[in-house]
Amino acid sequence: MTIPPGSVIGIVGGGQLGRMLSVAAAQLGYRCHILDPHEHPCAADVAAYFTRADYGDTAAIEAFGRAVDVVTYEFENLPVGPLRALGDKLRPGTRSLAVAQDRAVEKQFIEDCSGRVAPWRTVDSLEDVRGAVQALGCPAVLKTRRYGYDGKGQAWIRAPEEASEAWATIGGQPAVAEAGVDFSAEFSVIVARWQDGRHAFWDSPENEHREGILRRSSVPCSDMVALQVPEAREAALRIAEALGHVGVLTVEFFASADGPVVNEIAPRVHNSGHWTIEGAVTSQFEQHIRAICDLPPGVTGLMRGSAVMENLIGADVERWPELAAERGAHLHIYGKGEARPGRKMGHLTRVGRSI
Ligand code: AMP
Repeated sequence: MTIPPGSVIGIVGGGQLGRMLSVAAAQLGYRCHILDPHEHPCAADVAAYFTRADYGDTAAIEAFGRAVDVVTYEFENLPVGPLRALGDKLRPGTRSLAVAQDRAVEKQFIEDCSGRVAPWRTVDSLEDVRGAVQALGCPAVLKTRRYGYDGKGQAWIRAPEEASEAWATIGGQPAVAEAGVDFSAEFSVIVARWQDGRHAFWDSPENEHREGILRRSSVPCSDMVALQVPEAREAALRIAEALGHVGVLTVEFFASADGPVVNEIAPRVHNSGHWTIEGAVTSQFEQHIRAICDLPPGVTGLMRGSAVMENLIGADVERWPELAAERGAHLHIYGKGEARPGRKMGHLTRVGRSI
């Protein structure tokens, strides 16, 4: 069912992704309503309505659902139960959320879709960790099943005797242990899918991380990565279809000697797709709105041949006077207040080789 311009789009989560979704929605004539537990979420600055409520507050979510025409979410660490009440109004649905928010469920799901993942084990005790390290070898990485992001909730094990320290680092929580992947590059597949199965990919960005946080995404990717993109797209599409996903879905990959290995999936627009705002004909944010409102798919081709997106993390944002003065560079500042270390405060996109 088409949700026409003039309707209200509910967005659960009020961070920078909700903010950029709201801007794209406004351009198409929609008004957004943000639900977030914080006092001043940055998306509320650019949205028509804001409800401050906990994500687990069933009554608040139900009232929110009545006040809007469609609901989407901008991050995956949300309790699924209260959102079930939204039924078909929630796009993507709770299945995408439930799979993406638990690393063990996610890996099993990817394998069931014939996707390649690093060898892995679930671990619930130090004994399990020791067993997993023996089976997987070193280096291995422990990742909490839930609530991990930007490298948080992770600890590397480079030798078997580091097992107990790593287990303590992640707080002894239910986790997965996975083998370290010997990769030559990281990249992502970003796909938008409509209810009826129509879909659109963007060029796959090659991604550079530091300390577990994305620093830079570049398109086009290197030739070596480009060779792995077709297989990765097939895997991403199988995952999107198996989830019945509506909207943008991002799958992060390692380019390994054995082919593309899935690192993780995000049932949403993604930091590695921010370059699409100025670098592609239709941005990931606009396309997500188009997909959940059942408007026709936008064209996703590159606008000027190449784009590089650089994240502004923590104090990086203090460079804004210099970045704002850079000819042709597109500066985005999220308006999040305190520039704590590791916090994503903005990004900069440079489009085309020379301006
Ligand atoms: P994640 O939070 O799972 O996306 O991990 C953050 C970053 O840590 C990834 O983008 C990689 O750079 C690195 N990483 C995570 N898991 C592995 C792995 N199994 N092997 C090698 N590097 C990894």
